[in-house]
Amino acid sequence: MTDKTTLVRRMAWPDSASRPVGTPIQPSVVYASRDPDMLDAQYEGRLDGYTYAREGHPNATVLARKIDQMEGAEGGLVLGSGMAAVAAVLMGICKAGDHVLGGDQLYGRSLRLMRDDLPRLGVATSLADPTDAAAFSAAIRSETRMILLEVVSNPTLRLADIDAIAAAAREKGVLLVIDNTFTTPRGFQPFAHGADIVIHSVTKLLAGHSDATLGYVAARDPALRKAIYDFATTTGMTPSPFDCWLAERGLYSFDLRYDRAEASAKVLADHLAGLPGVKRVLYPTRPDHPDHNRATALLGTRGGHMVSFEIEGGRAAANRLTHAAPDIAFAPTLGDIGTTLSHPASSSHRGLGVEGRAALGITEGFFRVSVGMEPPEMLCAEFETAIAQSQNADQET
Ligand SMILES: *Cc1c(COP(=O)(O)O)cnc(C)c1O
Repeated sequence: MTDKTTLVRRMAWPDSASRPVGTPIQPSVVYASRDPDMLDAQYEGRLDGYTYAREGHPNATVLARKIDQMEGAEGGLVLGSGMAAVAAVLMGICKAGDHVLGGDQLYGRSLRLMRDDLPRLGVATSLADPTDAAAFSAAIRSETRMILLEVVSNPTLRLADIDAIAAAAREKGVLLVIDNTFTTPRGFQPFAHGADIVIHSVTKLLAGHSDATLGYVAARDPALRKAIYDFATTTGMTPSPFDCWLAERGLYSFDLRYDRAEASAKVLADHLAGLPGVKRVLYPTRPDHPDHNRATALLGTRGGHMVSFEIEGGRAAANRLTHAAPDIAFAPTLGDIGTTLSHPASSSHRGLGVEGRAALGITEGFFRVSVGMEPPEMLCAEFETAIAQSQNADQET
């Protein structure tokens, strides 16, 4: 009953025989139940019903079911960021005394979690090169609980030997966790290649518009799913309903965006390879890629939307390049609707130092492009101009 004497009682939601076509946003933090019996039924799983938004809300559920469909998963969970998903898996499952083995070119913050945070909590970690399955598998220990891998490395776009590592993990009873952010479910299906857990930074190509920060995690085993859910809920890794709504909206065009970006990335990679001043181009489906055969085996013709390249000249040339491409956002992210350009030596990989970067082939002339929706001819022309200017030392910087 509405109390007509006070403004603080909420209005009833208007009845409507018709349904909204767009997904409603539900920002409510709490949900009212009829009585304690009903609350019991909800907590005991006899009745579906939300109680408190940290534990779940409809916009997160809708988004999670959509990504489940893309990954062939069940019961996936949406969290407040990609790193929340990585942390929930590592910290929600591992205990002191366990060991985690990671790829040596993981996303920067995942590396940090492995190097600094897990050891502080008594979980040992080590890294190995996942393009070398024999060396990688040899690094599995008797205490190894899980392996964390990305299929395509950032920014060198090397391909992990997933199938061989998955076989070793299965044989030794080690969980295989795959961060599928770069490849996306359209480029690669981790569960079909032996993954036990799949992670996404939804922030990137899935949401696709650089306006929502979100993560996703799905586990095959319901017991692991529960461990991840409990840890994430206890530590408050909850996503915002509005972000979930934006990401869901982004997903409806994901296939189209992915295909468009990938087609343009191929064209751009080939164009860059023919330009003076370009030392090398990295793109998985190009025959000159160092892991070309594995790329074909794992990705087929799906090279993805990321292209990396290296120009002649040091920092000054790199500065000239970004100056000469003012309309391409120079920003350390990926998966936006528009093309973004990043320079790992001054951003994602600055912490490695010159020698650490040199070991990966990341020089001052190294750039990574996240190709967006622009017409490919336009991108090729912009990069051609920018690279030509970068090689012209008479340009002011
Ligand atoms: C961006 C990214 C993350 C982290 O995701 P956030 O949503 O930024 O927290 C994790 N893994 C990979 C591969 C990424 O690109």
